[in-house]
Amino acid sequence: MSVDDNTPVLRGCIKLPLATDELLEVTAKAKDYAIMHGAAMRSKTNFSPDSLNFAPFVLVPSSFPRKEFEKAIALQPIINRLMHNVAHDEEFITTTLAETIKVDEFTANLFNIYRKVLAHGFTQRISLGMLRSDLMLESRCPELSPLLDSSAGGGDDDDVDADVEEQEQRRAKDAKAKTKTKANPAKVGGCTSSAYCCWKQVEINTIASGFGHLGPASKTIQSFVLRELGHAEKLQRMPKNDALAGLCDGMVKAWDIYAKPQAVILFIIEEVSYNICDQRFHEFYIRETYPHIKVLRRTLTEVHRDGKLGQHKELLLGSTEVAVIYFRAGYEPGHYPSQGEWDARYLMETSLAIKCPSIHYHLAGTKKVQQALAQPSVLERFINDPEEMKAVGKIFTGLYSLDDNEAGNANYEMALRTPEKFVLKPQREGGGNNVYGLDIPDALKRMSRVERSAWILMDLIHPPLSQGYMVRPGSAMPPQIVDMVSELGIFGVVIGDAEHIVHNYQAGHMLRTKLSTANEGGVAAGLGALDSPYLIDSDDEDGYY
Ligand code: ADP
Ligand code: MG
Repeated sequence: MSVDDNTPVLRGCIKLPLATDELLEVTAKAKDYAIMHGAAMRSKTNFSPDSLNFAPFVLVPSSFPRKEFEKAIALQPIINRLMHNVAHDEEFITTTLAETIKVDEFTANLFNIYRKVLAHGFTQRISLGMLRSDLMLESRCPELSPLLDSSAGGGDDDDVDADVEEQEQRRAKDAKAKTKTKANPAKVGGCTSSAYCCWKQVEINTIASGFGHLGPASKTIQSFVLRELGHAEKLQRMPKNDALAGLCDGMVKAWDIYAKPQAVILFIIEEVSYNICDQRFHEFYIRETYPHIKVLRRTLTEVHRDGKLGQHKELLLGSTEVAVIYFRAGYEPGHYPSQGEWDARYLMETSLAIKCPSIHYHLAGTKKVQQALAQPSVLERFINDPEEMKAVGKIFTGLYSLDDNEAGNANYEMALRTPEKFVLKPQREGGGNNVYGLDIPDALKRMSRVERSAWILMDLIHPPLSQGYMVRPGSAMPPQIVDMVSELGIFGVVIGDAEHIVHNYQAGHMLRTKLSTANEGGVAAGLGALDSPYLIDSDDEDGYY
């Protein structure tokens, strides 16, 4: 929806279309390859715990600029530290969420747990953060890419009032810019490519950051496809991705810190896990690499039934002690069908187990906190180094509060005036909760002034397009070429307490790609497809890579 006729197109990895016979054959092979390598999910429409469907995937990797990819990778440890500092700033979390928790019951419930834990003191001071910073390339950066800035329908205030002739002139100029972008990245305003100029953070996840397995698995499928198509030489442009190992090793490092050989790692799971491969492969990796460490899977309901605290506040499930809790559930209201599940969450928070995330990390990942952090004066509080401040400051797109005060009300008016520029977000995770563009005014008008403060407003990011084949279970064969946009996620692991960080590293990546017409691209939610980056350089020769 953030795409229009003038959206630039990134050059593809190989020349398309493929001949129909070749396409049919390689797609059929790739589907089997995906199922047989665990790039799969349980069917939602035809659920059975005994079978899997392949997860939707893009046949060949989508292009992503190497420079921007490397920038994102390099920045991750700084983002890890930022989030660690935010999570440990009681005053900041409390003030930032003060208005939100008055109206958002779910965040208020999380906050109550936080408040109670604060009152009694943290039993476990160490936290395990396994974060994923999600980002999209931005193709409309006014200061860097003036040629593309004037895209028709871009929602610029001036565009609305521009007369017809002026609009025509702009359209002609834009069309020229687009052609340039497709065939030959132009040097514009110091920015080497006009298909993108930078990337912007979509959100930061601090709980249940998925795709540690499916990220690397996507590369495996697409490498297979490229080899089958006779393009083995392209594989060198697909960056290595050790996300599964990086994340699981994080859990094991936390387990080591806990230092009790008999204690286990507990995965908190939903009643039904559709995205089962992305959890089981973590478990299997730990069991195969560290056979002395046991992994349990339990729902919040089961922890409520079987969990208790031992003498030293250790978390016991029956007689089994838990060293590390990895939450793959607990991030949305549906995961807490009764007070029992909230009690279980509180029990775990007060225990000695190391939590991923602990409650303060969970709260640090709310959209409201992201919105507050986007203000430079706030960022200063958490980052000392001016260069780092500058680098992190640049990744935020416009984020606006809708609190019931002067600034919030001005932002509300702005959203009503130019809704096509924005996305409206509540304090929720897991996809499907946001309101986009022209739907925003109705949604906002239905809320009271106070209710609005549970939401934030964000500038829409306009990623460039890529073109390729999206392969979905049950869809017509052969697949058709479609316009798509991608979202890159960079994983980070950070372990420490309020005073010290003991581990901090970047832990691989994942790429999700959706149809350019879709608002959201959750793969588990059924809208996106697995993908992996094919790194392109701005000084590459014209044509396909
Ligand atoms: P959730 O916590 O539900 O995953 P996100 O903030 O990640 O919420 O939004 C869900 C999806 O909506 C993203 O994966 C992305 O596809 C789209 N989206 C979110 N924010 C923006 C934005 N500012 N511009 C364009 N698309 C966005
Ligand atoms: Mg998201």
